[in-house]
Amino acid sequence: MIAEDPPQQAAYYHQDSADLLYGNAKAGILVTLFASSLLVFGFNTVEIQVQKYIWWAGMSLLMLVRMIDVYRWDRRDKDQDCDGKKAVMRFISGALISGIMWCAYCLYVFSYANSTELACMIIVVSALAGGAATVLAAHRFTAMSYALIMLGPFSIGMLLSFEQYQQILGLLGLAFSVVMMITAKKSADFTRNAIRLKNENALLVNQMEQKVAQRTAKIYQLSNLDPLTGLFNRSAFMHHLQEQLKLSEKNGIPIALLFIDLDGFKKINDTLGHETGDKVLKQTAKRLEQFRDEQHLLCRWGGDEFLITFMGADQDMAVNYANTIINKISEYYDFESNRLSIGATVGIALYPKHSTKADELIQLADTAMYYQKKSSPRSVGLFNKEMRQRLFREQKLKIGLAEAIDKQQLRMVYQPIVQSVSHQVVAFEALLRWDFDGENVPPDEFISIAEQYGLINSIGNWVLQQSCIAAAEWLDACKNNQPSVSVNVSVLQLHNSNFIEFVESALGAAQLDAEKLTIEITESIFSNDKETMFHRIKELQSMGIKVSIDDFGTEYSSLSVIQDLAADTIKIDRSFINKLNTNGMAIIKAVKQMASTLNYDMIAEGIETQQQAEILSELGIEMLQGYYFAKPLELSKVKSYINHHSS
Ligand code: C2E
Ligand code: MG
Ligand code: MG
Repeated sequence: MIAEDPPQQAAYYHQDSADLLYGNAKAGILVTLFASSLLVFGFNTVEIQVQKYIWWAGMSLLMLVRMIDVYRWDRRDKDQDCDGKKAVMRFISGALISGIMWCAYCLYVFSYANSTELACMIIVVSALAGGAATVLAAHRFTAMSYALIMLGPFSIGMLLSFEQYQQILGLLGLAFSVVMMITAKKSADFTRNAIRLKNENALLVNQMEQKVAQRTAKIYQLSNLDPLTGLFNRSAFMHHLQEQLKLSEKNGIPIALLFIDLDGFKKINDTLGHETGDKVLKQTAKRLEQFRDEQHLLCRWGGDEFLITFMGADQDMAVNYANTIINKISEYYDFESNRLSIGATVGIALYPKHSTKADELIQLADTAMYYQKKSSPRSVGLFNKEMRQRLFREQKLKIGLAEAIDKQQLRMVYQPIVQSVSHQVVAFEALLRWDFDGENVPPDEFISIAEQYGLINSIGNWVLQQSCIAAAEWLDACKNNQPSVSVNVSVLQLHNSNFIEFVESALGAAQLDAEKLTIEITESIFSNDKETMFHRIKELQSMGIKVSIDDFGTEYSSLSVIQDLAADTIKIDRSFINKLNTNGMAIIKAVKQMASTLNYDMIAEGIETQQQAEILSELGIEMLQGYYFAKPLELSKVKSYINHHSS
């Protein structure tokens, strides 16, 4: 509740009183002038006529001064606060002086006046006193005392005279002034209440208006602003962007739309907590606000994503602008004892070059950012046609992949992993194939799309089921040689809290021994929530399942993590086998040494030649896999392959 302070209320009261008093003043002054002239010039009182003229001149001068005061009040600046109290004081001083002057006139003249003049004096003064009771109602003291001042002494004077008719007139005058006092009091009280009510109403209206304004501001905030950063939210940004596009179309001005995504934000959130994450976002928003002027629209698009538009920017200007933004965001963030550093990747789409639609521009800038982050984070990427084609293909694959299981377009193939000395087959790696309306889409392409669009769990579970069933089948058929199955599992599957249950049910449904299943995971798991990963791997191992680190050497992993992880096998990546003649050999030797120390078996994948197989076998690598031994086989060929290679 916003209450007006008492002095302010009093000021309003005085101003309203002054308004009422001055509002009635002109007529009162003119009547006074007319009445005084009538009495002075209408009756010739020989003995004191000169004094009457002097009085009249004095009264006229007073009326002139009061009239000037009225004009000044009328012409004051109504928007400015003016001192109502002083104005009231000025006004009542003038009124009281004129009352006193009338009193003096009557007292002085009545002993010289004849009965007619006296009667006129009584009538005029009573009329004036009667009128004043309402005209002066805005000031109670003046209203009440005016009639008394004018009539009281005059009536007493007459009462004390020896003429009987004067005594009667005096008595009437006194009675009239008492009645006028009572009337004036009532009228003044009524006026005072009316003014108070008016001000209270005005105050209420004012408070209501302020409340409505506050509510409107709150609603605006809730529906348009991001609560954390105070920047525009999605819907407000879209609205303003559409307006900006209309304006640009009309004036032929280009616009650059920048999609800004923070680099390393997730890590801050995961390691230092959401509170610190929030602080980073707020700081980033503040830094971005420094770049905003009338030509720029800025919003938090979601998570750690921000959008900013730049009206009138061509390609070069937009890229320079984006680089400046990246530099600004990359400056250190200092919070209490923490000094943090993050970066940003920016994707740019241009209006009208790339699109004329708001939502499409955002999508294209997002795409540009996405590809830029993949290829070279912390830099600027401009949208291009090739990205559009990639995006189009991604969308097509995404839609196709969602239906691939139902349409029976997926199947598993199995590539043998052999013992390096005997070449006896010890396992098969299960590899997924997708026949998408006649096109064989490589798993390297569609697995990442499945991961990106939330399809990996359903596909991964299907792979696990199929692989377990297949392994159970070949184990049934081959009594002597019992190769296990190696299934590739995405990091996202491991993150799923139901993953262990899925594995158990796949094993159960196929009636496959857990010892016959190996889970292949890539090194990239180390960049994720290590605790969960370690926990899952331990759970798998406690069930008897083996764990293999795939594509070893291609991504970052610290030695200590590998040591803690205690996997069963390391699969060194094909890229090192290809470089056996150059530095690949040294790396393989070093990894082999480390693996032996940590008690891991090693598999070398991508063996394409006999020479490679021999070298790796001599190096003591336990198992080998590659086209040299066999390409991935259809399930129908697996059993014959096992039988053939066992004999
Ligand atoms: P990966 O797990 O490292 O699988 C080995 C890849 O190397 C397979 O490619 C295999 O066909 C290929 N390969 C094996 N020997 C040779 C060789 O001598 N020369 C050459 N040039 N290539 C060889 P593929 O089947 O295209 O799979 C590629 C990747 O896709 C896999 O790499 C794996 O990361 C992923 N992937 C395949 N199936 C699945 C799956 O069911 N689930 C998951 N999450 N990922 C899968
Ligand atoms: Mg693999
Ligand atoms: Mg591999």
